Amino acid sequence: MSGLKRFFVPSIGAECELVGEEFEHAKNVLRLGVGAEVVLLDNSGKEYTAIVSTVEKKRMLLNVVREEVGAREAATDTLLLFGYLKNADKNEFIVQKAVELGVKKIGVFSSEFSSAYMNENKLERLNKVSREAAKQCLRSVAPEVVYYGTLQEALRSADGYANKLFACEFATESHADLSTLQGATAMVVGSEGGFSRAEEELANALGFASVTLGKRILRAETAAIALTSVVMFALGELR
Ligand code: SAH
Repeated sequence: MSGLKRFFVPSIGAECELVGEEFEHAKNVLRLGVGAEVVLLDNSGKEYTAIVSTVEKKRMLLNVVREEVGAREAATDTLLLFGYLKNADKNEFIVQKAVELGVKKIGVFSSEFSSAYMNENKLERLNKVSREAAKQCLRSVAPEVVYYGTLQEALRSADGYANKLFACEFATESHADLSTLQGATAMVVGSEGGFSRAEEELANALGFASVTLGKRILRAETAAIALTSVVMFALGELR
């Protein structure tokens, strides 16, 4: 395991700079100085080993000395769509766990029984949680977190996925066999308010199979993590 500190940067050149929050963290918290070795990530899947060459008041310059393809990304494409929850911490918790489990893309949506209100700052905060989780679990890509104003838009973002799963608290059986999944997989989990019958019908009409997670009603965050774990295991990503 690489013990080197990891930083996301917008782009990579032979000489790179760290600015803003990543710079503040590197300089003031980690106290990295000239000669320190770090890993830079540009969300391309590559990892760049770099050496700090200059520390200024508002930025740090680094020279890239080596690049390699990150070895910890999941082989299969997965998308987790979840209903935006009232409690900000719970949204962050779901994003963090989904990133750790290897999900490639995350969407949050508003729906009939989800009345929480999303804005730019909250979305940026979720993207920051994604980046921090990606660094912590040594991924080289931080999944983008996207917001959809309606369930329909969220469901449409899964067009093209081989498997489309809709966790439905009132489904009595699963219409997809989770144990034999293969290929790109999209998962949908509702907010604390759950889904309406009409929303289930919409999902089914767009090619989503309703699935049950058992007889008990799980909290939204439990359902998101349980479904993601089961799917990632079936896809061979947790072995
Ligand atoms: N308020 C609803 C429960 C919502 S649970 C009620 O009282 O019935 C939040 C979300 O978690 C649901 O929309 C669903 O996506 C998922 N979920 C919870 N328990 C589930 C189960 N047993 N099977 C499938 N999905 C479940």
